Parts: sequence; structure tokens; C-alpha cells
Amino acid sequence: AKDAGGNRYELADPDSDARAIDRHSLTNHLPAALERDEFFLEYQPLIRMSDGRVDGAEALVRWEHPVHGRLGPDRFIPLAEHTGLIVPLGRWVLEQAVRQACDWAAGQPMRVNVNLSPRQLHHPDLVPDTIAVLEAAGVEPSSLCLEVTESALIGADEDELKPLWQLAEMGVDIALDDFGTGYSNLANLRRLPATTLKLDRSFTQGLQRHPADPVDVTFVEGIVSLAHALGLAVTVEGVETEHQAAQLRDLGCDTAQGWYYARPSSAAEFAQEWVEG
Ligand code: C2E
Ligand code: CA
Ligand code: CA
Ligand code: CA
Repeated sequence: AKDAGGNRYELADPDSDARAIDRHSLTNHLPAALERDEFFLEYQPLIRMSDGRVDGAEALVRWEHPVHGRLGPDRFIPLAEHTGLIVPLGRWVLEQAVRQACDWAAGQPMRVNVNLSPRQLHHPDLVPDTIAVLEAAGVEPSSLCLEVTESALIGADEDELKPLWQLAEMGVDIALDDFGTGYSNLANLRRLPATTLKLDRSFTQGLQRHPADPVDVTFVEGIVSLAHALGLAVTVEGVETEHQAAQLRDLGCDTAQGWYYARPSSAAEFAQEWVEG
């Protein structure tokens, strides 16, 4: 409801009010959207830098909104996280992605990466749900990688990390997403059951400049050597050019993801391009 006195900011930016209503209505429609099957997944390949072959697929959720059209996750994941709908939505994503990996496995075993929100991470059903989904699809735990952001884990005590450790002990891979953007406490890495660091896109962008930003080069070099010393693999996000790909490979990154290789696409398109058989 608008304040009767009027508001100069709304006049200056007529969109902001619409956007606020939008957010409210998006939030209200999330539960029905899940029931009506308006969410779908796209997949983006992860490429092994040593030989350029596909090494997995990250599942990325989208919302086919009946009025607003296709919405990216940045529009609704924060809302779902806020209301708690992320728990059933996240479970749906997991189930869908794992089933997809199982379908592809007929042609070629395919690892699938699924993003986890902080709220899912702290939900008591995370471990039993994940086990149930893997068992129902007949998929090995090692075919699943859960991506969690570093910031979701900052401040987590031992008890809060237990579910992740349990999953890791079963063989599920754990990737630290957006690595290097938060207040990384490198010593913290030893407490986490991570198997992979996903280096944030901002580092990849720094390498695109000519000459590459020397600070970014040093940073990537340092992170790669630390990660490898700790037995972790390094995946880089946001690789858009051949130049970046070559540099990141030379810097020792193990796996890459980005528009240079492929944009996220439907499961059918992904299969056509990346799955044999
Ligand atoms: P993220 O996990 O960091 O995912 C990578 C994002 O970078 C994706 O955006 C992807 O489409 C985009 N991207 C990939 N390659 C390139 C590139 O070369 N250049 C550029 N500029 N961007 C690239 P998207 O799909 O919009 O997802 C945004 C974020 O939403 C994700 O960031 C992730 O945090 C979240 N998200 C997506 N799907 C899910 C999900 O199922 N559950 C949860 N909890 N979060 C999700
Ligand atoms: Ca991710
Ligand atoms: Ca990321
Ligand atoms: Ca991100």
C-alpha cells in the first residue's frame, strides 16, 4: 500500500514499486508453482581441463512463470530461502537431477552437481532425503556433488557440519561454491569435508584483461597450490574465452565451466551434445 503523502523516490523510479509488488507476488506464488511443476532444470557441463572432456553437469533451476516468463534463480531462490520453500524445492531439484544422471548413465556415467542453500544444509532431513533420492534412482553417491557456498559454512560449528561429513563419508562430493568471495578463513578448510573448490567467476574475469591482473594470477596460483596440497580439486567458473581457458589450465585448474564451453541448456540438448550412447 502506498503512503498517501506520496514519495519522491517512487516518482524518480517508478519501477521500484512494481518490483516490490512483484517480489511479494512471486513469494506468494512459489508454493503453487512447485505444485504446478513450473520449475525446470538446465544443465551446464563441467569440463576436465587436461583433455577437454565432460566431467559432470551442474543443475541450475529456472522458473517458467505463467505471467513473467522464464525467471532465473537469482530472482526467486532468495525468496524461497527466506520463506523456507527452498527445502521442498531443493529436494525436487535434487530428485530431478539425480534421476537425470541415472538416465544419462545408460550412455555414460555422468556426475551431477546440485546447489544447496544454507537452509537446506541446516535441515534435519538433508542426509536421509539425499540417501533416499540416491537409492530410489539407483545412483552411486560418488555420482553426486553437492555445492555449498563458503559463506553458508562460515561460523558453522562441529554439530552443524556433521551432516555434510556424513554425506562425504558415503562418497558424495562436496564443492565449496563461489570460493574466494567471502571472508575465507583458509584454516577453516581443514574442518570442512570439501573435495573441490569452485573458484568464483570474479577471478576468471580478472584474467581476461590484457595483460591479466597480476593480483588475480597470483591469487589463482596460490589457491590452486593450496587446494592441491590439501587434496582438493579446483573448478573454475565463468570461463568465457579461449584465452581464459588456456591461462587457467596453465595455472593448474582441474575443471572448468563457462560459456566458452557451453551455456546451460535443457536436459535433452545437454544429452545430445555431451552424453554418448
Ligand atoms: P552459481 O552456483 O555460482 O552458478 C553459476 C552461475 O553462473 C549460473 O547462473 C550460470 O548460468 C552462470 N554462468 C555459467 N557460465 C557462465 C559464464 O561463462 N559467464 C557468466 N557470466 N555466467 C556464467 P544462474 O543459472 O543464473 O544461477 C545463479 C545462482 O543461483 C547460482 O550461482 C546458484 O547460487 C543459484 N542456484 C541455481 N540453481 C539453484 C538450485 O537448484 N538451488 C539453489 N539453492 N541455488 C541455485
Ligand atoms: Ca553452483
Ligand atoms: Ca558459483
Ligand atoms: Ca554465484
